[in-house]
Amino acid sequence: MNKAQLERNFQEIEAGLSKREAIEEANRCLYCYDAPCIQACPTGIDIPSFIKKIASENIKGSAKTIMLSNPVGASCSRVCPTEELCEEACVLNHSTKPIMIGNLQRYATDWAIQNEQTLFEAGNKNGKTVAIVGSGPAGLSAARELARMGYAVTIFEAEQEAGGLNTYGIVSFRLPQAVSHWEVNQVRRLNVEIRTNTRIGTDIPAQELLDGFDAVVLAIGMGRVPDLHIEGEELNGVHDAIEFVKQTKGNELPSEYAGKWMVVIGAGNTAIDAATCSVRLGAENVKILYRRTKEEMTAYDFEYKFAKQDSVEFRWLTAPKRIVGNGEGNVIGIECIKMELTEAGEDGRRRPVPVAGSEFVLPADGVIKAIGQVRHLELIEEFALAHKSGVVTVDLKTYQTSNPKVFACGDVVFGKGQGEAMVVTAAQQGKQTAYAIHEQLIKTAAETA
Ligand SMILES: Cc1cc2nc3c(=O)[nH]c(=O)nc-3n(C[C@H](O)[C@H](O)[C@H](O)COP(=O)(O)OP(=O)(O)OC[C@H]3O[C@@H](n4cnc5c(N)ncnc54)[C@H](O)[C@@H]3O)c2cc1C
Ligand code: SF4
Repeated sequence: MNKAQLERNFQEIEAGLSKREAIEEANRCLYCYDAPCIQACPTGIDIPSFIKKIASENIKGSAKTIMLSNPVGASCSRVCPTEELCEEACVLNHSTKPIMIGNLQRYATDWAIQNEQTLFEAGNKNGKTVAIVGSGPAGLSAARELARMGYAVTIFEAEQEAGGLNTYGIVSFRLPQAVSHWEVNQVRRLNVEIRTNTRIGTDIPAQELLDGFDAVVLAIGMGRVPDLHIEGEELNGVHDAIEFVKQTKGNELPSEYAGKWMVVIGAGNTAIDAATCSVRLGAENVKILYRRTKEEMTAYDFEYKFAKQDSVEFRWLTAPKRIVGNGEGNVIGIECIKMELTEAGEDGRRRPVPVAGSEFVLPADGVIKAIGQVRHLELIEEFALAHKSGVVTVDLKTYQTSNPKVFACGDVVFGKGQGEAMVVTAAQQGKQTAYAIHEQLIKTAAETA
């Protein structure tokens, strides 16, 4: 596969709406009073209002309405599972088909991106400082709202570029990096300092932030994919799904996967992204192995359909047992074992158990692990925060941690029955964190006045 073909494969798949299509779709909206779609959007965007502005060709106003409620609204228009959120709640579901809320949101925000709009201004300085660790959707949203309220905000980001998984994790053919960069720049323009290539806990100790700022927000997301703990995991050709996708988000797309047989382990959204990336990198055969069945799969339905369209094969009730090497350190296959489901465990999900004697080997040049993400335990403990297996314990209204000066939001608080790992929820939690910090610091200021 040549370079031009590779680049085409990673261009955004879905074309945006044309002006005529957007206006026609906007005119279908019933502009419901007490609209259920607003309730269904975790960031509470005033959906009828932004759609009405599209209909009256006030596109900047529309983009502003969206981004006011959701500082990463351009990304969300592409990555939200709309059929489970806003569009699912649309009253037109009962008669015809729901309004294409995500696509209209994309139409308005794309206009703002193409016309290089700056949508918000920083508030008058109030003399208070906040450090934010992590510049993903949660950190950026907290920063945007704090800056609008007059705080001097510094974001510390370990990576070379800001934006978190919107910049590095979600595949380019669904979310181009340029969209995430625009959202980051909207925040930068509010005089938020973003110190990239700066890993807290390594480059700067946690204590320095606790001593130097009025409040600290931990928005570090989750870490790498955990180990499988099976033989052969150290072989060349075994990848972490997040790192695998990340190499397709830079300027140079890797060419070494063309013609390869790839096996992805796991069936969440990350697994689907790794599998569809493999296909687009030219892999000849891509399989997803999952130890449970389609019913238990955590990937969104639209992601599953997308992978099927890309000819990804699903092997249900199949678990990896050993990665097979060629004696020179390279992967040549994966030994699997068939599973069956027994009674439900503590989490309510039926437990998979191996079927004795059902082992078989699949040929593979590469194995991609996509079985969840580990937690940034060391940093959480350096901040001395209460947590459950790396899920930071917070008050779910204020996102305050066990240290009153430290707040945590986004994927770092997801898990153990708490929250959801989605861009839109991280954005909402970031906003709520900002308002809680404001309330706390204003209260403290009033008490000490
Ligand atoms: C492959 C993949 C596909 C996904 N697809 C979707 C999707 O389609 N739709 C959807 O809604 N959600 C999707 N998600 C989930 C979504 O991306 C996350 O829920 C969301 O990004 C969480 O935001 P966050 O700000 O909490 O964390 P992140 O986006 O992970 O950002 C955390 C930031 O903190 C930085 N950081 C970590 N440690 C440190 C440190 N010590 N010092 C400084 N900085 C640090 C990281 O570098 C990172 O930039 C996907 C996730 C993955 C992995
Ligand atoms: S942010 Fe997501 S859930 Fe909310 S209206 Fe937009 S697409 Fe729907």
